[in-house]
Amino acid sequence: MNHRNEDYEKRLEQLFEKAQHLASIWGLSLLMRDVSVEFSDADDSKLGQCDLRRMTITLNGVLLLPENETLLHETLCHELAHVVAAYRYGPRIQEHGPEWQEYLQRVGFTPRPVIPAAEIRNGSPAPHRRAHRSTGDRSRGDAR
Ligand SMILES: [Zn+2]
Repeated sequence: MNHRNEDYEKRLEQLFEKAQHLASIWGLSLLMRDVSVEFSDADDSKLGQCDLRRMTITLNGVLLLPENETLLHETLCHELAHVVAAYRYGPRIQEHGPEWQEYLQRVGFTPRPVIPAAEIRNGSPAPHRRAHRSTGDRSRGDAR
């Protein structure tokens, strides 16, 4: 899938503004000069990742779907809070510890280290599955 179009650039720009807004609430807006945000097309179960050395946040491309808008913001905030917490407290703090949690709470999110897969829309309709029926099951009173 190719996201490199105008629409994509625009979304990325908006997202970066959102990130800047978060960082300014956290009192670290200047930090955003060094942070980059990108999307990955990799079929990965992870919604987001952050590379503290490269100061790069990578978000799963599935988050670009309109249905995942809320999760996109939560994931951005989740990852950015890692960057900000590591920047302020050093890289040795607990990954989803109190410092990280506080950043999320401060901007109105409930800190969730893991987002349940069931909340993620993947854009494709759920495969139509027939009710599972094992052949040779005669216990169900359907034998005549
Ligand atoms: Zn995390």
